[in-house]
Amino acid sequence: MEKRKFAELGLSPELLKAVDKMGFEEASPIQTAVIPAIMAGGDVVGLSSTGSGKTAAFAIPAIEKVDPKQRAVQVLILCPTRELAVQVAEEAGKLAFFKRGVSGVPIYGGQSYERQFRALAAGVQVVIGTPGRVMDHMDRGTLKLDTLKLVILDEADRMLDMGFREDIEKILSAVPEQRQLLFFSATMPRAIQDLIKRYSKDPAWVKIEAVAQNAPQVEQTYFEVDRRSKIEALTRLIDVHDFRYGIIFCSTKIMVDDLDEHLQRARLRRRSPARRHLAGAA
Ligand code: AMP
Repeated sequence: MEKRKFAELGLSPELLKAVDKMGFEEASPIQTAVIPAIMAGGDVVGLSSTGSGKTAAFAIPAIEKVDPKQRAVQVLILCPTRELAVQVAEEAGKLAFFKRGVSGVPIYGGQSYERQFRALAAGVQVVIGTPGRVMDHMDRGTLKLDTLKLVILDEADRMLDMGFREDIEKILSAVPEQRQLLFFSATMPRAIQDLIKRYSKDPAWVKIEAVAQNAPQVEQTYFEVDRRSKIEALTRLIDVHDFRYGIIFCSTKIMVDDLDEHLQRARLRRRSPARRHLAGAA
């Protein structure tokens, strides 16, 4: 998989300074393949997962394409979750650090409308949002898409899994004919292929086979368990391997709270009565 220096990808001095400040030494394979294709103006389908540097792969050319003098939405990035929208907005913010007059805002459900109204009214050029809230702003007339140049679907497969197909279709039908469309997805189910066929024009396909492992010394494994037995299986694994340190990722806040409560209870059960007494007294 080819990797090149950012300086060989035709970027502006402001973007080169930003990637340097972020500590990126060279472009990852997906960035090497995708950045020139997006800069050239064509539609792109990128098959690659988290950890490959896909966010910068689309955010760098997106920022390059923004006209700082035009105070209107020029780039729309759709993400499946608010967590991803915030993460993408943060990375885009860092990449646009030296680009004067370029601004962006994440818009997602659960956040107050006021802040989003203010940012949109102020003339941000890059909107990073979840499909539901984007539709909401379109319906209210607070988000106008007639000046869009670039639409990016990040983690398109997850968006469809989460039931956003209808919203995505409505959004794609409402954007100008003359725009660039980018799909990023870890998998390519039939429904995504249909969307690509329907909305993009002769896209370049970029497939990055295996994600480079960030920590090759870490052994990775997985267990398929029924949803209801997950906590029990996890507790047993922790017991069997007697882990002292670890990080557990969950997909929702509620799952984190449930698991935390369960693990605290399990820990107390394992303690001797004397230890339990001490823990209680402390
Ligand atoms: P992503 O696949 O977009 O979720 O990115 C994974 C992580 O890699 C993020 O923390 C990025 O900031 C980081 N990253 C992206 N591009 C590069 C690069 N060229 N060199 C080093 N780190 C990078």
